[in-house]
Amino acid sequence: MTISSFNPPLRTLMGPGPSDVHPRVLAAMARPTVGHLDPAFIGMMDEVKSLLQYAFQTDNALTFPISAPGSAGMESCFANLVEPGDKVIVCINGVFGLRMKENVERCGGVAIVVEDDWGCSVDAHKVEDALKANPDTKIVAFVQAETSTGVHTDPLILCKLATRYGALSLVDAVTALAGVPVLVDDWGADAVYAGTQKCLSCVPGLSPVTFSERALDKIRKRSSKVQSWFLDLNLIMGYWGEGATRAYHHTAPVNALYALHESLVMLQEEGLENAWHRHAKMHLGLKAGLEAMGLEFAVDEMYRLPQLNAVKIPDGVDDAALRKRALERYGLEIGAGLGAFAGKIWRIGLMGQSATPRNILLCLSTLETLLS
Ligand code: PLP
Repeated sequence: MTISSFNPPLRTLMGPGPSDVHPRVLAAMARPTVGHLDPAFIGMMDEVKSLLQYAFQTDNALTFPISAPGSAGMESCFANLVEPGDKVIVCINGVFGLRMKENVERCGGVAIVVEDDWGCSVDAHKVEDALKANPDTKIVAFVQAETSTGVHTDPLILCKLATRYGALSLVDAVTALAGVPVLVDDWGADAVYAGTQKCLSCVPGLSPVTFSERALDKIRKRSSKVQSWFLDLNLIMGYWGEGATRAYHHTAPVNALYALHESLVMLQEEGLENAWHRHAKMHLGLKAGLEAMGLEFAVDEMYRLPQLNAVKIPDGVDDAALRKRALERYGLEIGAGLGAFAGKIWRIGLMGQSATPRNILLCLSTLETLLS
């Protein structure tokens, strides 16, 4: 059998990510591959770092993209910061908090779980109680934008709490970055990881990270080696670090980094605050339309993420069949519920380039047609 080239169908991506990728980003990716140590490429790497510092609102010198998806960004934070026996407070209010706990345990750490209901934001009082009960806590970890539920947790108070109790803060901003404010320096956050495939509307497979001096200090003073060779920041710093000689560590995904560079240039052109504002405005448009159809949100208005709308599936509707029809007839992808929310909600993403009036109209008219 001869296999021909793969030509993907055209879709409108309004699920939990990836989001629609702008033609400029796709075109950037198709530019000629150069060596990952080519002087021209190294110049571009410096630009990617400073554009990421802008996106994260930080002066942290160690700000760069991990050459792997968001889960690897998560793993790079835990693998480098957790030493065997370290106590880590892990806030769980959805799937990605659970994944954090798994990471802590695989690093030999002791996870102290602070649980909140799915659909609710992390309760800072519970976190403070856990810090009081465990004064030797080394890290407080939480998800700012829980993609599984569409809930926002305000990092300011949790990061400040961590600092006050002598712990580091570790923030999952995979879905948050560029969709809602991520203010690393204002919060005093110590380790933050993100994803490229959500509100940056870049291709999937890279994970921007940023580490404070306090976090770097902990990493430099480790008494045990980081268990993962690939994610060991002490080694990666030779390629991505400040003033590094840019020595070979691994072969960087050169073309994917062109794509990230382009999406960050586009973010800079739009302006970070305008991007936050656009996400908020599009969310209000979608909300008005959904509510006019009698659909309800699963999350209290106070904690709703504009970029991830968790909508209750009306009684009697066949979830999988509706999503299949939306995809096949209208090329529209919306997300299914995960974990405790499986079969109960749809996750409608308004991330990056997907957050447009045109997409909102497509989504509303598709739902209206398929629900009637
Ligand atoms: N954290 C959050 C909040 C996410 O939404 C995701 C992916 O959806 C991840 C981590 C993992 O990222 P990836 O799927 O790119 O590995």
